[in-house]
Amino acid sequence: MSQIETDEQTSPDRLLRVFGGDPRRAIREETIVCLICRAAFRQITNTHLRCHETTSLGYKERFGYNRRRPLMCGALLRLYTERAIRSRLAARILRRPIVDNPELRCQGGHRPVALEEILNRRDIHLARGASARGLNGSGRAP
Ligand SMILES: [Zn+2]
Repeated sequence: MSQIETDEQTSPDRLLRVFGGDPRRAIREETIVCLICRAAFRQITNTHLRCHETTSLGYKERFGYNRRRPLMCGALLRLYTERAIRSRLAARILRRPIVDNPELRCQGGHRPVALEEILNRRDIHLARGASARGLNGSGRAP
């Protein structure tokens, strides 16, 4: 017998609760947890997301990830990053529209800000405040 999922059961807030409302916590060194079904993977593929009737972009928007966040564990991300550096991938990307067209920079502020970006900014702000107050290394939590 299948259980009909209600909007409350599948709301991002409810699904994120186990991670303290922070989607970044679903990403670990060796695994990334699918926030919909709680299964752990090395990466969340489009094939997997199709079984939840969503896409990579839809998943990121639903749970507040940055649009460019790779849906993979830390170890795999590092492997791909190192490979891209070795193969000089950036040097082969010839056109950078933001450099070619300065007006694009002006549009930078007109984009949706994901929960992940808000959390990252908050963490940086808190870390700077803690170090300015000299709390780091003092044994007190920031
Ligand atoms: Zn899943």
